[in-house]
Amino acid sequence: MPELEDAVCPICLLEEETPSHLLVYCPFAWNIWMASYKWLGISTVLPKEGINHFLQHTFFCWSRNQRRGAWVVWIAVIWSIWSHRNAIIFKEGDIDIDKVIDDLQFKSWIWLRGKFKDFGCSLYEWQTHPSIYLSLL
Ligand SMILES: [Zn+2]
Repeated sequence: MPELEDAVCPICLLEEETPSHLLVYCPFAWNIWMASYKWLGISTVLPKEGINHFLQHTFFCWSRNQRRGAWVVWIAVIWSIWSHRNAIIFKEGDIDIDKVIDDLQFKSWIWLRGKFKDFGCSLYEWQTHPSIYLSLL
């Protein structure tokens, strides 16, 4: 039978390791979300429930392709948090928010280039002006 301490988040040791905590509300994840929103030029608060966090991303965009682009970015953030978290826990890596941001910018750029044939900006352009290129989708 698992012990209670086995359910505590190994990154912050503050709360139970639920999906919402792991990917959104753990201080580690929260800092990544805030850095991501800053990069995207978005001012927001994080909703309490994980599903609302996902749905909130549909409100930043108006066209169908813009919503799809925002979801690609959301998935890149989630995937980068998950990957970096696993590296910290299983490979004794260090918390490096800048590395996670670099990773999610690269992943979202690659995935957007694969999904939208007109998404032709360079990685540098994506990293420096993401809201412009999301608005052009
Ligand atoms: Zn935590």
